[in-house]
Amino acid sequence: MLHDKENIMVILSSPSGVGKTTLTKKIQQKYKNFKISVSHTTRIPRSNEVDGVDYHFVSKEKFKELIDKGKFYEYAKIFENYYGTLKKNVDETIQDNDILFDIDWQGTKQLSKFNNLNLIKIYLITDKNDLKSRLIKRNQNTQEEIKKRFNSFDEDIQHWKDYDYIIINKNLENCFRQIEKIIELNKIKSNISFQKTQ
Ligand code: 5GP
Repeated sequence: MLHDKENIMVILSSPSGVGKTTLTKKIQQKYKNFKISVSHTTRIPRSNEVDGVDYHFVSKEKFKELIDKGKFYEYAKIFENYYGTLKKNVDETIQDNDILFDIDWQGTKQLSKFNNLNLIKIYLITDKNDLKSRLIKRNQNTQEEIKKRFNSFDEDIQHWKDYDYIIINKNLENCFRQIEKIIELNKIKSNISFQKTQ
């Protein structure tokens, strides 16, 4: 069993380069009870990334071993690399904290199958024309990677229907305010239904 408490799990998904990392950091700063779920990945770390903080960076062999042992709640292959969320980490964190997941639509689908979760699914979208300049500006990917990420946009946004909330990211502050409202509303809802079960 995953959890039956009032703590909530918020998934934030978006096409690559929409500004999700900045938003997740802002959420964590404002809501001290939120912990960001640190995924495992086979991707090579970027220069600014820290193992154990941004991701747990592991080899393909190690990742496969974790799959075979059934250790993941969800995992997906994205741009030739694997990304996944360990059961153990989620089960421990949710006892005392709310959790924020930065995962894609494939992982969201898999997590949605666990219907005892207090899952709130948010999809963040941006104008396609803004996206390429963002991807180039953040300067974290090679030309080839930028092309791949940009091309995945059309496929990615087809999954918006699997989410509870869609936010158009025209302006980061605005977007953050909408996320605040969603979090606060769902915390209240969750507390009420938790109290009813006591
Ligand atoms: P990046 O390589 O830019 O850090 O992440 C690429 C994509 O992988 C992002 O869309 C991010 O949301 C997704 N991602 C990161 N961790 C996970 C995970 O554990 N599971 C899934 N399904 N997607 C993830």
